Amino acid sequence: MPTTEPKVTQAGKQQACTRCGSRNVAHISYGLPAFSDELRQELDAGEVQLGGCLVWPEQPQLVCNDCALQMLSDGRAAPEEEDRL
Ligand SMILES: [Zn+2]
Repeated sequence: MPTTEPKVTQAGKQQACTRCGSRNVAHISYGLPAFSDELRQELDAGEVQLGGCLVWPEQPQLVCNDCALQMLSDGRAAPEEEDRL
């Protein structure tokens, strides 16, 4: 069973921060998720952050918990970050 895995990498599952290299990176959850105990634990653990309902073309999918860099799903820094700093 493990030998027939499709070519889906785990990239993105644990994306390292492109600025500080930290792996303490949270996924940003958009929309209105069901507020389960599991989600609450992930929020408390810094694994997930809520991005609200705003949607724009290059919205960040990831955020570094160490330096607050917001990244796109492919790991590039989100555009607005440059303006903020
Ligand atoms: Zn960082």
